[in-house]
Amino acid sequence: MDLGISGKRALVCASSKGLGKGCAMALAEAGVDLVVNARGAEALEATAQEIRTKHGVDVVSVAADVTTPEGQARLIEAAAGVDILVNNAGGPPPSMWHEWQREDFIKALDANMLAPIALITALMPGMIDRGWGRVVNITSQTVRAPIAELGLSGAARTGLTGYVAGTARQVAATGVTMNNLLPGLHATDRSISLDQNMARERGITNEEARALRAGSIPAKRFGTSEEFGATCAFLCSKYAGFIIGQNLLLDGGGVNLTM
Ligand code: NAP
Repeated sequence: MDLGISGKRALVCASSKGLGKGCAMALAEAGVDLVVNARGAEALEATAQEIRTKHGVDVVSVAADVTTPEGQARLIEAAAGVDILVNNAGGPPPSMWHEWQREDFIKALDANMLAPIALITALMPGMIDRGWGRVVNITSQTVRAPIAELGLSGAARTGLTGYVAGTARQVAATGVTMNNLLPGLHATDRSISLDQNMARERGITNEEARALRAGSIPAKRFGTSEEFGATCAFLCSKYAGFIIGQNLLLDGGGVNLTM
C-alpha cells in the first residue's frame, strides 16, 4: 500500500532503538526523510546508517536529550519544516507511590508531557501554514488502565493525553492531525528491564518473568517494533486525515476493556 507520504520529512524522537526505531523504519519504508534522535550517539548513528542503507532516504541524526530545553532546541533547529513529528522518550522507572518526590514528578512531566508539547508548539505552526501535518505521540497503555508501579508514567502521560484531546480538535481543520499510540507490552530493551524488575521482585529468572508477562496477554506474546512502526506510519499517511485526537491501544488485547 502506498501511504502517499513519500518525499515528506519527519522528526522521530528517541528512535535509536525500540518503538521509536520501529516508527522511523516504517516511515523510511514509506519514503519519508528523517531526523532521528537519541542520547547515545553511537547506537543512533548505527540506526541512521541502517535506515539509509535499507530505504535510501535522507537521515540526519541528532544526539540529544529530548527532555531538556537544550536538546529540544537542537532538535527544533534540525527539524525545521518537518511534515511529521513522532514524540517519544524513555519512561520513568517503576517504583512505589511513597517514593515519589516533587523532583521525580518534574522529571516525568518533562520527559512524557512537556517535551512533546514543546516540540508540538515549535513545529506544528509550520505544518499548519503548509496545510498538512501529522503528530503522533507514543504514550502507554497506562493511560487507559493503571499499572500501579508506573504511576509517574501514568500521571505525566495522562496530562499529555488531555492536552492532545483539546489541541487536536483546535487544529483539526488545518490539515494537521494529532493522535496517540498506546503501547502495551512490546519486545524492546524497555520491556527486558521490566522483566528483570519482576524477576528480582519475585525471585524468578528473567525468562520466567518474560513468560509470565507474555502469558498475561490474550495474544500470548509481546508486540513487535515492526507492528508498532507500521501503525504509526499509517497514522502519518494520507489516508489518516480523518483520525483526530484518538488513543490507539496496541496491546494484544491486554487491557480488558469493551470500548
Ligand atoms: P527502549 O527500547 O528502551 O528505547 C528507548 C529509545 O529512546 C532509545 O533509542 C533511547 O536511546 C531513546 N531515549 C530514551 N530516553 C531518551 C531521551 N531522554 N532523549 C532522547 N532519546 C531517548 O524503549 P521502548 O520500549 O521503545 O519504549 C519507548 C516508549 O514507550 C517509552 O516511553 C516507554 O516507557 C513506552 N512504553 C513501552 C512499552 C514496551 O513494552 N516496550 C510499553 C508501554 C510504554 P538513548 O538511551 O541512547 O537515549
